Amino acid sequence: MPELPEVEAAARFLHSQISGRTLLAVTWLHRSLLRNAAADVDTLIGHRVARVVRVAKWQEIVFDDESVLVVHFRMTGDWAVTHRPDPPGHARAHFVFSGARHVWLVDPRVLSRITVRRSGDVDPTSHRIGPDALDPALDAPALRAQFASRRAPIKQVLLDQSVIAGIGNIYAAEALWHARINPWAPAQRLTLARVRRLLDGIRWTLALALDEAGRHRYGTATGRLAVYDREGQSCRRCGAPVARTTQGQRSTYWCRRCQRS
Ligand SMILES: [Zn+2]
Repeated sequence: MPELPEVEAAARFLHSQISGRTLLAVTWLHRSLLRNAAADVDTLIGHRVARVVRVAKWQEIVFDDESVLVVHFRMTGDWAVTHRPDPPGHARAHFVFSGARHVWLVDPRVLSRITVRRSGDVDPTSHRIGPDALDPALDAPALRAQFASRRAPIKQVLLDQSVIAGIGNIYAAEALWHARINPWAPAQRLTLARVRRLLDGIRWTLALALDEAGRHRYGTATGRLAVYDREGQSCRRCGAPVARTTQGQRSTYWCRRCQRS
């Protein structure tokens, strides 16, 4: 599943390709995308793209009239851009922009979602999204306040997008390893000092991944991961074998020796 760094890289890539260009045509290549978007998207034709930004794991293509095309890749979505109308494999939607930019939503499993938000509409997602993990305004006291009412293990709380937005299963495990925090520690019991370490861990992990995602553009950069998917291999810090446990039906990888409390 694309995580925050991959979505950020995808949004930056799309911005570099279509900002300032006018949407000329849209063709749906798979019926499941028609469910919520079809009629509304037609109203964007003729408008110019002001910018493409990431909000949590959504991408927002903002047009000159402040209408927004909102895209979520879910599990397997991605962008492809061509200069000719030749569809790549698994192309599910085709957006034609001025200057011969053909943007394709590529999605083998067709789980991506596309919706339109008009200027003035309330963002239906905003009330459910916590502060963005990469927002510089998010500091340790603010994050600790988000944890205050959460008794659940910190690993599961990090995956709750209403607490902090943009962290998925891989980077939650990585951030906890960097911060030396046990994934089972109740979120509300973390001291300010530990939350500060956790925030450092989150930013270090995401910055590294963003760097990788920007270079390779697609896919999750697993080569430099510290614990995720490394069960039984040596902890990169202390050498103990990396453990795997299940929390909330998701795998958690961690070091029992250096993530004790
Ligand atoms: Zn260790």
